[in-house]
Amino acid sequence: MKIAMIGTGYVGLVSGVCFSDFGHNVICVDKMPEKIAMLERGEVPIYEPGLDVVLARNVAAGRLTFSTDIAAAVDGADAVFIAVGTPTRRGDGHADLTYVMAAAEDIARALTRYAVVVTKSTVPVGTNRKVAEVLRKTRPEAEFDVASNPEFLREGAAIDDFMKPDRVVVGVESDRAKEVMGDIYRPLFLRDFPIVFTDLESAEMIKYAANAFLATKITFINEIAALCERVGADVKSVAKGMGLDGRIGNKFLHAGPGYGGSCFPKDTTALARIGQEHGVPQRIVETVITVNDLTKRRMLDKVMDLCGGSVNGKTVTVLGVTFKPETDDMRDAPSLAVVPALVGGGAKVRVVDPHGRKEGEALLPGVDWQTDPYVAAEGAECLLILTEWNQFRALDLNRLAKAMTTPVMADLRNIYSCDDVLAAGFTGYDGVGRRQSG
Ligand code: NAD
Repeated sequence: MKIAMIGTGYVGLVSGVCFSDFGHNVICVDKMPEKIAMLERGEVPIYEPGLDVVLARNVAAGRLTFSTDIAAAVDGADAVFIAVGTPTRRGDGHADLTYVMAAAEDIARALTRYAVVVTKSTVPVGTNRKVAEVLRKTRPEAEFDVASNPEFLREGAAIDDFMKPDRVVVGVESDRAKEVMGDIYRPLFLRDFPIVFTDLESAEMIKYAANAFLATKITFINEIAALCERVGADVKSVAKGMGLDGRIGNKFLHAGPGYGGSCFPKDTTALARIGQEHGVPQRIVETVITVNDLTKRRMLDKVMDLCGGSVNGKTVTVLGVTFKPETDDMRDAPSLAVVPALVGGGAKVRVVDPHGRKEGEALLPGVDWQTDPYVAAEGAECLLILTEWNQFRALDLNRLAKAMTTPVMADLRNIYSCDDVLAAGFTGYDGVGRRQSG
């Protein structure tokens, strides 16, 4: 199969690289020449573990190329994937479809034979039909089908998620499109990974419903965590006891500083908007959005309390600012709510993050970037753990306590136990949904 992948961000690049690893010929296109230039030099513009190795292997095999020329990529392609961004539109919370529709127009102009135009971006119900309209309007004579193929990969584990998915969802309207999509994903169903073929609207809906459900699960445990703090329960035990129930499951039950990232915030907002537009308000999702905002604000209160009510003039060392470990993605990270508030409150903020600096520098002005947690903790008055990178999970707590002027810890990922932290010489500890001290 010959595949054109339009957009080489987290989803497009991973999907393109993995499709080439299946044995297909893939051209990845992006409108940013600097991204394509990097890729042509064999450099990966994002941090995603393992991506560089699979990319290099397929470039060497001659199956994977990069281009800014959409017409050359679409020419002769069996399938053209749209994997551009769908950020929240300013003002109304809707998914901004400008990039999707612009890509559709470019594709229409470039089609030279029958192809399936596949939307991989997360898009509201009805968008694939609009893509078909744009294609038809721009090139009435073009031969094509549209397909919806939402992506479920997680940043930080993207290669594995793509190669061993829980399921692949494909919305199609014709047997011809179904056959092309089946051929593309054949290597997966030969290995028994389920493929759900459905209609366009259901495929679009599955993606939003799945993300909203996961965001709800996280938010549920975060709200239970707030109650645990009041009643003296430990949310880790509560989550364990709940998660062992097979009907509930233990995933996405880790209390923390609120969900962030490039998908949950924008997709819950978009789903709420879709519900309102169709006169079927999604009240659970609307509440999840509100509770998540409150959760992020609650995290700031924790730091303030540990610092005696004010951070003015105090040095706060922040470990981790990306929205989760193993990614450099900062989009809607909880740090973007917490760190500026600390800086605004007069704190001197030092930040350590293994891969966050490139994105984070512009987003977190006024902070001091450091590389070593122990150096960053020297003379600090609060240690704040925001992202649970592996290198922050087994720190020498005694050394940290000695280095700090006031050794208190806000552990917003619950990676340490209060007893261990206090035993190491800290005078205060606060996690999420557990016993506080100090
Ligand atoms: P991204 O912002 O990282 O990448 C989008 C890329 O598309 C950019 O490089 C941009 O330059 C390029 N682009 C935009 N318009 C273009 C055009 N007309 N022609 C060529 N290139 C163009 O976005 P992402 O995180 O990869 O997300 C893409 C879509 O996938 C979104 O709809 C998102 O919701 C969805 N999604 C993302 C994830 C994730 O973990 N990031 C997971 C599942 C689904």
